[in-house]
Amino acid sequence: MTVAEASFADVAHIVVDIEGTTSRSTYIYEVLFPYATQRFDSWLTAHADDPAVREILTQVGQEMAAVDPTHDQVVQALTDWVAEDRKVTPLKTLQGLIWQEGFDSGELVSDFYSDALDALRAWHDAGMPISVYSSGSVLAQRNWYAHSPIGDLTSWVSGYYDTANAGPKRDASSYRAIAEAIGAEPATLLFCSDVVDELDAAHVAGWRVVRVRRPGESHAADNSGWPEVAEMTAIRVN
Ligand SMILES: [Mg+2]
Repeated sequence: MTVAEASFADVAHIVVDIEGTTSRSTYIYEVLFPYATQRFDSWLTAHADDPAVREILTQVGQEMAAVDPTHDQVVQALTDWVAEDRKVTPLKTLQGLIWQEGFDSGELVSDFYSDALDALRAWHDAGMPISVYSSGSVLAQRNWYAHSPIGDLTSWVSGYYDTANAGPKRDASSYRAIAEAIGAEPATLLFCSDVVDELDAAHVAGWRVVRVRRPGESHAADNSGWPEVAEMTAIRVN
């Protein structure tokens, strides 16, 4: 049930999701994903000698279960995974590299709900450590915060976690790994996400959780027993 305010005492660290929580998933699916997909072909060709690209191609081949797939087959597989919204690590790595160029050139600017910016600023000003956990790569997350509509917000973020350094977002073990990396008791960690399965997994790992349920976001119809808010400024800590 959505409440006007959700209050949590003795929180040592807040961890926030990106897509659907701080930021519009429509922006990610309609702007960011197509930006990378349109560049898979040319970008892989232009960076063919880069060791990071060779590693991505090896991982893509393993995921495809293909020996020496052709350039066109790789591009097709990557494009299909985007269409299927598969959270495949080499795809996430490649997208992060392509977006980096877009952010650096100023062609891309990230997206935040205004209440998310207000909440993050208030927590930061109050000295509350904030980390990010998203299926987008750490590189993509850092760029997301470095190129926001109101400027560079990376000073607000103390840690970045993704499927490579923490694990899948619906596995409790990922939240145990993040708690260990942060160095805090799980019960002092608060996770904010729009996806109930992720909140369930964090809860299993001993975290406290709050659901951000925004009308119009893709997971808004799912029901949960967790405290829910419609805007992040309604989350009160300590
Ligand atoms: Mg989300």
